Amino acid sequence: MAISSIEINLGALRHNLREIRRALPGHVGILAVVKADAYGHGAIPTMEIALQEGFTGACVARVKEGENLRKAGFMCPIYILGLPLLEDMIAGILYNLILPVDDTVDLSLLETLAASQNRKVDVTIAVDTGMNRIGIHPDDVPAFLDKLKEYPHIHLVGTFTHLATADCRDKKLAMKQLKEFDRAIAVMPKGKDFMISCANSAGILDIPESWYNMVRPGIIMYGSQPSDEMNHTMDLEWVLSLKSRLSHVQVLHKGESVSYGADFTAKEDMHIATIPVGYADGYPRSLSNKGEVLLHGKRFPIVGRICMDQLMIACDKEARPGDEVVLIGKQGEERITVDEVAKWADTIPHEITCGLKRIPRVYVNR
Ligand SMILES: *Cc1c(COP(=O)(O)O)cnc(C)c1O
Repeated sequence: MAISSIEINLGALRHNLREIRRALPGHVGILAVVKADAYGHGAIPTMEIALQEGFTGACVARVKEGENLRKAGFMCPIYILGLPLLEDMIAGILYNLILPVDDTVDLSLLETLAASQNRKVDVTIAVDTGMNRIGIHPDDVPAFLDKLKEYPHIHLVGTFTHLATADCRDKKLAMKQLKEFDRAIAVMPKGKDFMISCANSAGILDIPESWYNMVRPGIIMYGSQPSDEMNHTMDLEWVLSLKSRLSHVQVLHKGESVSYGADFTAKEDMHIATIPVGYADGYPRSLSNKGEVLLHGKRFPIVGRICMDQLMIACDKEARPGDEVVLIGKQGEERITVDEVAKWADTIPHEITCGLKRIPRVYVNR
């Protein structure tokens, strides 16, 4: 057993997926957003449970992530969210991934590559309704649809857009984006097999008009609310815990300092302990002199700057090398959530869980 571990509670994940399924009408399909290795939770175990719980397929950012799912044996629809360049087109066609296109994608190249493999490639039209990241403007959709007809090996299966402010209290821009999207889909193929997708987690919670016939939850699968400005929340359980053990304990004498920059100095004699977790593990350096951890069921503050592989906490005289510490999760009656860590670091929970890379995952079911 490694000294530090990330515990993924598959029971909690399953609970969250059931809550999401339960909140939506049966005709709305669900794509599990498992990009970035399921936000650090593991794309393969997440997809296994998602398919058992009636989800339709997967969404990933990159073709490589889709390829990994295919190689792991998943036969479900896999939607790519990022626009493809040449290499992505080749792998996308080979692994039967659904590629997004807009008017900046080289369609004749995609056609040639698909024709040369004697296959059809499924595509979705990415529509830009106000995020201004990728996608075609609604005004340009009719001409684009005509153009697509020139390519017999490119098969249009759906369309999607992405909301910029679904997780903000003010939904004005989100509503405007929905109007733009409606304008785009008005000229697209009809029929229940044509995928129309807009909602991320925040859209699922707060904007039923954004559900159409397919939704794309990410962060709520993993137990965090999209933001603290949501009108509706869901009964979600925390999936990820980050645990380690004390590697060193000592007395820091009055006037002595801790770590780089020496910006923490003991006001009186005190106990400090070292934890072998640092920013190279994805624990944010911005929590220096700011974050807290759990030891013996109590909160203790991080003192001094967080190093690449280690950090120090103030503790009490009971602390011993080898004692368990919880950086994210529950210990006794106390709990530190991903959301709390994200707030300390002035970021969103997504960035915290995606960042925890070096520490081995352990899967449990409770
Ligand atoms: C990441 C992503 C999602 C999921 O977002 P959450 O806020 O985690 O639910 C949905 N759609 C697109 C296009 C994304 O990039």
